[in-house]
Amino acid sequence: RRKWNRVVGVLRELEEGCSTSIGRLRQVVDAMAVEMHAGLASEGGSKLKMLLTFVDNLPNGNEKGTYYALDLGGTNFRVLRVQLGGKNSLILGHEVERQPIPEHLMTSTSEDLFDFIASTLEKFVEKEGNGYIVPLDRRRELGFTFSFPVKQTSVSSGILIKWTKGFSIEDMVGKDVAECLQQAISRRGLDMRVVALVNDTVGTLALGHYHDEDTVAAVIIGTGTNACYVERTDAIIKSQGLLTKSGGMVVNMEWGNFWSTHLPRTSYDTDLDADSPNPNDQGFEKMISGMYLGDIVRRVMLRMAEESDIFGDATCRLSEPFILRTPLMAAIHEDESPDLREVSRILQETLELTNVPLKVRKVIVRVCDIVTRRAARLAAAGIVGILKKIGRDGSGGVMSVRTKTGEPSSRMRRTVVAIEGGLYASYSMFREYLSEAVAEILGEEVAPYVVLKILEDGSGIGAALLAASHSSSS
Ligand code: ADP
Repeated sequence: RRKWNRVVGVLRELEEGCSTSIGRLRQVVDAMAVEMHAGLASEGGSKLKMLLTFVDNLPNGNEKGTYYALDLGGTNFRVLRVQLGGKNSLILGHEVERQPIPEHLMTSTSEDLFDFIASTLEKFVEKEGNGYIVPLDRRRELGFTFSFPVKQTSVSSGILIKWTKGFSIEDMVGKDVAECLQQAISRRGLDMRVVALVNDTVGTLALGHYHDEDTVAAVIIGTGTNACYVERTDAIIKSQGLLTKSGGMVVNMEWGNFWSTHLPRTSYDTDLDADSPNPNDQGFEKMISGMYLGDIVRRVMLRMAEESDIFGDATCRLSEPFILRTPLMAAIHEDESPDLREVSRILQETLELTNVPLKVRKVIVRVCDIVTRRAARLAAAGIVGILKKIGRDGSGGVMSVRTKTGEPSSRMRRTVVAIEGGLYASYSMFREYLSEAVAEILGEEVAPYVVLKILEDGSGIGAALLAASHSSSS
């Protein structure tokens, strides 16, 4: 009985530590907007890098022709071919081919990696047909999604700042990523030009904008998390004199590294960070994204086991980092059977915990709920922070806009945020908590004007769209 009280105590403490009251969320919103300002004001002015992308015009539906894209960001890379009909026709078709990156190439030389990628691309190009015709007198053009931190020097070039996610090819750091790819393509004698180098968030924004021109920001919530949005060039103080035809530019926030003292941090977060290969880095990401949520839950369960005997003696597997993956955590959370049968199965198969009583299983479900709710609500606050920065959160009152005929109207402007990523797409409780919190923070007058749109394959298709809108022949 005393021991059970300790379990309840751990749960209570977690609940309190993860509290995301509306007041606290508003503080996070403000902190996000403030950090965005700081990151735009000077290089290194904030934990938010606020990277320039040199993307100043987003696809609008008039792009035409066949374009290629390459998406490199994790353990898989993808080659895509997209056919665009122009005149606001939807995408006529697209083909994707996925390839795992052979592990030895992730730590070899840039030449080896890109030769492998270029040869896959070449084989993919050879399979053209099915109406995907690139006129013989035209060079094929390619958008390259590269989801690692890059210091962009133009829309089609940029220098790798550092590798993440298990990649470590030292000779590439400091090199132009697009140039490495272009050289490998040329070595194979393939006639193709890299015309856009983009971050995955920017690809998502491009696809969102292609379908709906009110799309102004994009968020990725998968293994990691990041966001980008359209900023006015005159607000990008750190690169004074930056001029674009549209007066705007997409900024890659690298928001995973956001930090504020207002974030509800627990001892589990502190420990997870200290045990990670990148302590003090990616603090926001470590509270939100799919790479970490399962492990936060594991840490809470381990604490409960240490404080009591709720799992009997068989707790050794709980001390194994990352043994509880986020998709399993989601399955525990979303088990709707009255006797939590699925929870039993997962506890047994993954953690080797047998005969866990129902009341303990209920506690575990509750832990998942607390951790996911906090993550989703913090992501929501981040999104509203972006809206606040660009004056779309309604805080200036319901703004007046001009209609097409120039008449002022008191209607508020519609704002769309494109969202993509495995965690958001596959975890419905996460999605619900996120949209609920966005509506709660904005209030009922403004919320109806803000639309969250789920996208699929945006990071790849978007790069092909950007290749089209930055094509040398358009
Ligand atoms: P990446 O972010 O690696 O490019 P994805 O956007 O597909 O790729 O995200 C994959 C991540 O999404 C996984 O690491 C996992 O954490 C999370 N995820 C995938 N499926 C689920 C699921 N059913 N429930 C919760 N999270 C999931």
